[in-house]
Amino acid sequence: MIRPILIHPDPRLKKLCEPVAGITRELGKLAEDMLQTMYDAPGIGLAAPQVGITRRLIVMDCVKGENETPRPMALFNPEITWSSEELSTYEEGCLSIPDQYAEVQRPAEVRVRWLGLDGTEQEEQFSGLWATCVQHEIDHLNGKLFIDYLGPLKRQMITRKMEKLKRERARQG
Ligand SMILES: [Zn+2]
Repeated sequence: MIRPILIHPDPRLKKLCEPVAGITRELGKLAEDMLQTMYDAPGIGLAAPQVGITRRLIVMDCVKGENETPRPMALFNPEITWSSEELSTYEEGCLSIPDQYAEVQRPAEVRVRWLGLDGTEQEEQFSGLWATCVQHEIDHLNGKLFIDYLGPLKRQMITRKMEKLKRERARQG
């Protein structure tokens, strides 16, 4: 089931999300819906607060190219256990801030520990686009958006554009 994606500004995107105690059937369904919503958008990552659920769950798939095997991932309670000193810069976007992109600098590699869909603890080191994506999505669980890394003027300009977009969408029904 494709779920509607919240558009910034929205108070639900600014909340600190709650960890999950275990993987229930309902949470499994939520992860499945979020992956479907992400692929449909299309996007490479999505966090639960973006569909209005303030729980610590992110999904992602940064595999590029039509001939490569997709790698859908669902990470419950993801935690960064190590970050590289080396930084990298990517032009980021967000499904909650459509058509707006800006360069953000983050650690180039991170190790992340999480609870998988099967309830087991997993840990993996991410680099490249995966590292950027997982950090961007974990930020969402702490109420942080990529525009929070930008200067106040740029951030306000983007926020005003999103307010206008929301008014237009509301008018169209
Ligand atoms: Zn985002």
